[in-house]
Amino acid sequence: MVGQALEPLGHAAQLAELRDLWRDGAGPRTLLFAGPESVGRRPAARWFAAYVNCSGPAEARPCGVCPSCSLLAAGTHPDLKEVAPRATTSTGRAKRSLELRIDQLVPREGGDPEPLGPWLLTRPRFTTRVGVIDHAESLNVAAANAFLKLLEEPPAWALIVLIAPGPEAVLPTVASRAATVRFRPVDAAELERLAPGATDHPAVRLGQPGALLRAAEGSGDGARRAAEALLQALDGDLAGAVTAAEAFAKATQEALETGTEPGPLVWLRELLRREPPQRYATAVAAVDRCDEALASYAQATLACTVLALELRAVLGA
Ligand SMILES: [Zn+2]
Repeated sequence: MVGQALEPLGHAAQLAELRDLWRDGAGPRTLLFAGPESVGRRPAARWFAAYVNCSGPAEARPCGVCPSCSLLAAGTHPDLKEVAPRATTSTGRAKRSLELRIDQLVPREGGDPEPLGPWLLTRPRFTTRVGVIDHAESLNVAAANAFLKLLEEPPAWALIVLIAPGPEAVLPTVASRAATVRFRPVDAAELERLAPGATDHPAVRLGQPGALLRAAEGSGDGARRAAEALLQALDGDLAGAVTAAEAFAKATQEALETGTEPGPLVWLRELLRREPPQRYATAVAAVDRCDEALASYAQATLACTVLALELRAVLGA
């Protein structure tokens, strides 16, 4: 099938559900794509935008070749707009708690020049404007309230797709206005098909095709190497362990700033699975403490050095 390139892996049931909902073009106009991170909710939203805008034969939509499908595949579709929380603060520092700003949704003086609300109210070039709100769980009350009327009743040519872990994770006023489609981690066998021989990648266990695809492209390799280097250095002398901790801290910071998943800490947890259960549990507890320290803005080098020393004690030099 030509449109297959647009099809997210491992969610045939969900795509069939969306086709059914929208066969006559009269499905719910606000949807919530629920599920864990990296399982394919964003690609599914793009597929859905392709499906509703496709001018190919009804049974073959999205066809992959009509003008709308071509623009979607190229990432330049005029009727698809995705908003996501900004990962950096105005000072350029990586910010760990993400929040969608009100001016990304509705006009505010000095804010985003093209917020989602007015964009949705503008007539589409093809048939349907699709606005995707990523991390809808990070919508605060003020932003949600300012956008509520649109969520309740988007114009006839518009669709809103909210992406969040689940309806319980978003504000009740938002959840109650959306029809939920649930996405689950993708089957390991299915992921094996995508990346043969990748069985030791954490994404396979977590059912995350997105992370696996990025790994196949070579990005995210640094995260794995950083975790391996740290574990290796723990067998050597103390100075070596501290140096490795500094490099590990740097890689962790980088992963955070670039949004690389899985990051070094996830890889570290994965590699520690080789350890016997008791040692594994103690070691992973140390990794969790480091993770929490980083999330509460602890100094990265310090947090990672503490982690390295704790791991060294557990795993035995
Ligand atoms: Zn098409």
